[in-house]
Amino acid sequence: MRTSWPQLLDEVYACEKCRLCATRTNVVPGEGNPSAELMFIGEGPGRDEDLQGRPFVGRSGELLTRMIRAIGLEREQVYICNVVKCRPPQNRDPLNVEQDACLSYLRRQAALLRPKIIVCLGRIAAKAIIKEDFKITVEHGQWFQRGGVQMTAIYHPAALLREEGRRPETFEDLKSIQEKIRELCEHTDVTVPAVKS
Ligand code: URA
Ligand code: SF4
Repeated sequence: MRTSWPQLLDEVYACEKCRLCATRTNVVPGEGNPSAELMFIGEGPGRDEDLQGRPFVGRSGELLTRMIRAIGLEREQVYICNVVKCRPPQNRDPLNVEQDACLSYLRRQAALLRPKIIVCLGRIAAKAIIKEDFKITVEHGQWFQRGGVQMTAIYHPAALLREEGRRPETFEDLKSIQEKIRELCEHTDVTVPAVKS
């Protein structure tokens, strides 16, 4: 279905397609540059995101912002959203029924944006978007083509906050994303060299 951003946002803000609508404070549709060539997809809003109605604004969000800077970009140059748009209570994993109910919005966001590159943040997003049997510990940083879009998954920032030992691998993955941007993107400039942060 071909829609406009305002129409899509109206629908998401009013959505009651799954049980998460009952416990949310705010819907968190996503944000960023409508002509972004790079799309980041997390799992679902946490507490801070639910309170503010914006994606990745808590501790994980701070780290994501630094990861985006390590690629040589600012948040305003990319698009950031989640598989589910409402917070799962106590930050539990979103259930399959909830993901299934919500995924049509993500598909329509991707159809409007037409990104060159999709970066899944963590296991849940990788399974929902790249393939059901995705193994994040083995397959992070690998590239997959889906419908003409290059996709990869990296560790979720929350996982990197818990397990700092995974940061060097993630830094390599970020460099690979930077190379892919240079290869494929037309107006996403990553002239700044990757800097460890
Ligand atoms: N974790 C996510 O997966 N998404 C957010 O927006 C915030 C934290
Ligand atoms: Fe609707 Fe998605 Fe929120 Fe469920 S999580 S109520 S499907 S917007």
